[in-house]
Amino acid sequence: MTPVDPTLPYDDQNIFAKILRGEIPCTKVYEDEWAFAFLDINPQAPEHILVVPKGPYVSWDDFSLTASAEEIAGFIRAVGKIAREKGLVEPGYRAIANIGPNSGQLVPHLHVHICGGRPLGRMIP
Ligand code: 5GP
Repeated sequence: MTPVDPTLPYDDQNIFAKILRGEIPCTKVYEDEWAFAFLDINPQAPEHILVVPKGPYVSWDDFSLTASAEEIAGFIRAVGKIAREKGLVEPGYRAIANIGPNSGQLVPHLHVHICGGRPLGRMIP
């Protein structure tokens, strides 16, 4: 896969769009009006969950620029709720979104990685 160009328009054939539409299977862990979450196929921690907004956003960039306040709040609340439901708040977890080529983003639908279940180390580049 080539890194995502976050300036390109949304491609509704991307793999997470297909998962959202139920065209590709996933292990679903959560769904509400704003967010859908499933296990990462290549987990980097004992708990590795991907949370995607239901709307067509390439990355945090267009999401933060064009999504409604309701969508943004709903999505961020869902990320926190999933981490709480998974028991990750103590002793902690990481929630990150890769944006564009320098981050290594591979899938052009905004996703937040929730990783936890082991010490993750500090991650300040
Ligand atoms: P990115 O590098 O874009 O931030 O992260 C993409 C993530 O999506 C990777 O951690 C990768 O393992 C995961 N992934 C890629 N394809 C699939 C898939 O078909 N199903 C699931 N569940 N995860 C996927």
